Amino acid sequence: MTDSDYILACQKIAHVYYEKLEVEHFERISKSDINLTKTQNHEVIHGLLARQITLVSGMVKSLPTWNEHIAPIILRCIIDATITLKYIYLDVDKHVQQFVDFGLGQETLMLKRIKERNLAEDGEIINQIEQHINKERKHFLNIINVGSWNFINIRETAIKAQCKELYDFAYSQFSIAAHSSWNFIFPRYLEYCKNPLHKYHRVPVLPELEVNYIFLIMAADHLKQSLSDYDKLFFDSAVFQNSFDYLVTEFKNIHEDVENS
Ligand SMILES: [Zn+2]
Repeated sequence: MTDSDYILACQKIAHVYYEKLEVEHFERISKSDINLTKTQNHEVIHGLLARQITLVSGMVKSLPTWNEHIAPIILRCIIDATITLKYIYLDVDKHVQQFVDFGLGQETLMLKRIKERNLAEDGEIINQIEQHINKERKHFLNIINVGSWNFINIRETAIKAQCKELYDFAYSQFSIAAHSSWNFIFPRYLEYCKNPLHKYHRVPVLPELEVNYIFLIMAADHLKQSLSDYDKLFFDSAVFQNSFDYLVTEFKNIHEDVENS
């Protein structure tokens, strides 16, 4: 299999996977009972799921993200939302309200900062943010919490939501990339100078962005976990089209083709 055949095959599989995922998503939403006395709960949960699916869609449409340089940033966002959802499910009414309050508080804080810098050209953006917040709630009613939305950190959130492993082995690992920590930087962006008289100092390198389907599988796997959490909460025995199984089977075939070529 040539490199260009590999890329074309990956593109095709990713595209079909996403079509299946969209069908699966709409089936799930159309079968969900909406409690009209608690629309905010549905909005937050469905909004977070839509965010995760959109992040996966971004990877599907952009193969240069399928590598250790870019994918971990997207994966971290997907997992962040998974942990948030798992925690929300512990006490949906209370946690959804906290989540909304924090978000509106953050927006109000941004508005306050923009107003304080007192620039004439900020008039339009101030109007936009005010309208945006007022659609949800009057901005002067929002309480600003500068900590986290649920008053605990992400590690404690994961422990309470019984997904500490997800935090330890996925979220934390991908955070190293998102923060550009030293242990992420030195093995990837530096190499030893070839001049032996230079005391082996390291010089920067700009790595190629390789395309490895394993990163799309990882993203799809975390999304699948989130969708399965949702199904456990909202359906007794719903069976939806399994886009993830398609992805894994097809990439397994590609793997065999690459090995045999
Ligand atoms: Zn040198």
